[in-house]
Amino acid sequence: MFKASIYFQFMRLAAITIDVDRDVNMPLPGRREAGSAPRDGNDTPRFASSTQGLSLIVELLNDMSIRGTFFLEADTARHIASEVNIRNMLRGHEIASHGHSHEDLTGKKTGVFIDIAEKANIIDKASQIIQELTGQFPKGFRAPYQNIDNTVLELLAERGYLYDSSITNSITNGRINPHALSSGLIEIPLAKGVDANGKSIHSYLWPMHEGKRQPGDYLDLLDQYDDGLLVLATHSWHIVETFTGPLSRSLIDSNLDNVRMILDEALEKGIEFITLDKYVEKFYY
Ligand SMILES: [Zn+2]
Repeated sequence: MFKASIYFQFMRLAAITIDVDRDVNMPLPGRREAGSAPRDGNDTPRFASSTQGLSLIVELLNDMSIRGTFFLEADTARHIASEVNIRNMLRGHEIASHGHSHEDLTGKKTGVFIDIAEKANIIDKASQIIQELTGQFPKGFRAPYQNIDNTVLELLAERGYLYDSSITNSITNGRINPHALSSGLIEIPLAKGVDANGKSIHSYLWPMHEGKRQPGDYLDLLDQYDDGLLVLATHSWHIVETFTGPLSRSLIDSNLDNVRMILDEALEKGIEFITLDKYVEKFYY
């Protein structure tokens, strides 16, 4: 079944993955579902930035002929679908799941324990809504806050999911590769490397959107592997809003330019982009 070792010799692949979730999401103590970072003291979930950012990032990827993997949080996707035709917008890209209401499935951040039946219900509700909205049954899952456990992995496998992309692995000896889990799923990890100052750098782009990192830091990260699949990640809302508030039009433009620069340079370096479902189909089935 696993043909991975045949193909893994000196391949440099990358994926751009986008979590489509509620704006500036935050765990709320004692609440299963996430809120948004308070604006004027109000932490009710908001979806406008996620909607706007999604249009902008899809436009960018389409312009570059790169297919992305979009981890949709079902409730957010439903709000977006009330504003735009999400099925048409995401045509040609991969659709995956990011939960129903951005639940903290392990309760680490909220202190809310979710039992196995409730976890199953969350996964199923999310899959159903995502399929209704996009016409695609998700094959992959990324847990909100990257909080995942074996129960969730087994539930996903039982439901026909093929992979999870919630954990982070370090690039080791120039390699960052997916691997099979005991549940039967393939784990496609996010990546961690070391920046020019010896500090840890994660393949989530959010510090760049927050003005704490430069595109060059991620270009260095792309130079740290010569084999495997590097999974870049961002949030749709993060193109147009940060933890400190909404961005001006010129900052949105430079944010998009920064993402484009990273993807452009990756292509220049001979890295090939692939969606996570296609990766699994190609190397494991
Ligand atoms: Zn999320």
